[in-house]
Amino acid sequence: MHEMSIAQSIVEIAMDYAQKEKAQKVTELELSIGTLSGIEFEALDFAMEVCKKGTLLNDAQIVVDKIQAIAKCIDCENEFKIVHLFDACPNCQSYRTQLICGKEMQVKSLLIE
Ligand SMILES: [Zn+2]
Repeated sequence: MHEMSIAQSIVEIAMDYAQKEKAQKVTELELSIGTLSGIEFEALDFAMEVCKKGTLLNDAQIVVDKIQAIAKCIDCENEFKIVHLFDACPNCQSYRTQLICGKEMQVKSLLIE
C-alpha cells in the first residue's frame, strides 16, 4: 500500500513547516488530490491517521480536496471528466486526449497554532 509512504511524506512536509514556524501544533491540513493521482482516498485517510499519531499533527483535521480529472480532446476540443486515463472522448470517440488536471497530489494549506 503506497498510501502509507505518501502519508509519511505529507506528515514530514507539514512537520517541517510547523517547526520552522515554531508552531505548537497543526490544527488543520488540507490536501489536493486528483482522481487520477493513483491514490486511494480511503487508504490515504487510514494511513494519515496512523502517520500523524504522536506528531504535531496528532489532533489535526485532515481535509481532502478531491480534484476531478478533466481531459481535453485534441480532435474536437471537447473537455470532459475522465475516469480512466485512456478513456475516449465522449463527443467524437477519439483517443487523442490530453489530461488537463487530475494527477495532483499536494499539501494545499496548513493551519497551525
Ligand atoms: Zn473529441
